[in-house]
Amino acid sequence: MNLHFKNRIALFNTVAAAITMLVVFAAVYAVVYITTYRHLDSNILEERAELFSQISTVGDSLVFSLNAEWEEMEHNRAEVDPIFLQMVDDRGTVIFHSRNLENDKLQFADSLTEELFFNVEFNGKKIRQGQFPIKTEGGKIIGQLDIGISQVDSILILTNLRNTFFAAFPLMLLFFYGVTSLVASRSIAPVKQLIAYAEKMNYNNIDPRLPLPVHHDEIYHLTTTINALLERIETGRSREKQITADISHELRTPLTSIKGTLEVLIRKTREPQQYEEKVRQVILEVDSINHIINQLLYLARLDSGNLSIVKKPVNLYDMLLAVKNRWRLQMNSKQMILKLDIPEDTVVQADFGLLEMIMENLVSNAVKYGYKQGQLVCNWQADTGILSISDNGPGIPQEHLPHIFNRFYRVDVPGSTLVQSTGLGLYIVKMLAGIQGIQIQADSQINRGTQFHLHFNG
Ligand code: ADP
Repeated sequence: MNLHFKNRIALFNTVAAAITMLVVFAAVYAVVYITTYRHLDSNILEERAELFSQISTVGDSLVFSLNAEWEEMEHNRAEVDPIFLQMVDDRGTVIFHSRNLENDKLQFADSLTEELFFNVEFNGKKIRQGQFPIKTEGGKIIGQLDIGISQVDSILILTNLRNTFFAAFPLMLLFFYGVTSLVASRSIAPVKQLIAYAEKMNYNNIDPRLPLPVHHDEIYHLTTTINALLERIETGRSREKQITADISHELRTPLTSIKGTLEVLIRKTREPQQYEEKVRQVILEVDSINHIINQLLYLARLDSGNLSIVKKPVNLYDMLLAVKNRWRLQMNSKQMILKLDIPEDTVVQADFGLLEMIMENLVSNAVKYGYKQGQLVCNWQADTGILSISDNGPGIPQEHLPHIFNRFYRVDVPGSTLVQSTGLGLYIVKMLAGIQGIQIQADSQINRGTQFHLHFNG
């Protein structure tokens, strides 16, 4: 059943109220029932006390005087609510009954030892009956006294109570449902207002924030949460725009350079040397494009959780030598040198492709951000299992150092030479190291250089 929220609340509340009412009614009914029957029983007991005061025993014989109590009119006339009396001896013979019993007799249980109360029907009338053993002074039972009282009043009270409840029950539920539905409808009005506002929003229009309700309740909390979410989406979206612009710019710069170099090259016939030099320049630019595209691919794979790791023994010296050779042209153009302070047989457990990407990024940063004629050192400490890649470049300001591994974090130092950067490199390095169980840490000093330490035993 597809109920509106307010109707659902009203329905749940009504069901709960119905159950509560039924329980309360059952309790009230039980109390009234017990009280009424206790009252009847106490009437019977009063009657018994009066009658027993008229009974005495001589030996095993029963002596009772037919005095006024026994002959009272109420026991003898066919009244609306008469009291019936009956006396039975120990052989089960009725030895006395009130006149209103005429030729009938009250039901009685044989061999009665204790007093007994029960409900019976007598001549079409419901009566409450008490049965009491008559004992000698020695405690021997020599007969019994039966007293019957009409239950008409009690039954009337209970029936009235029941009828009133069952007549009022559906009306009360209907009323309750109506009131709850009204209250629920008023309570969810702010939610409806939020929906109306939210419906006006779309990807290009999330600027207006949801209006805050007056009361500081859950709806207020929900609204502030949605607004904070919108804020984050907005920030993310503008960052996305900025990144797209930056990446386009990053790619356009080497592409423009390639285009310019090739256009100049074909303008006239040149010496083979000049061709070689220009082709080398183009290769550098292509490498740079390749690096950015690689970063984006790794980012996509990291985001989709699609990176599989195969850890194998990797020769660190060979890997860094290959990286050094790949960056030789760029280093040469900045007259930089890379020193491998690593024994040739150094082996670590890692995923070859992912570790290579880490080294590429760290070396590319040192080359990209390093000073002309700078120096890079890759040092291996076998006892601690730490590989350090250090440069003597400009360094990273201390306030930026804790953030450099964040996604898209870039350090824009005023006055520094403008190096194009996406802020993805170190984020990718950190993630790739993390999934292989390698810890990475950075130290830096302004104008002294930067060191990245990879802990392979971490
Ligand atoms: P990108 O891929 O754009 O180079 P990174 O995430 O690799 O971005 O680097 C983040 C920031 O850290 C860069 O903007 C740069 O300023 C700084 N940085 C990284 N490596 C070095 C380094 N070796 N020397 C100086 N600054 C560095």
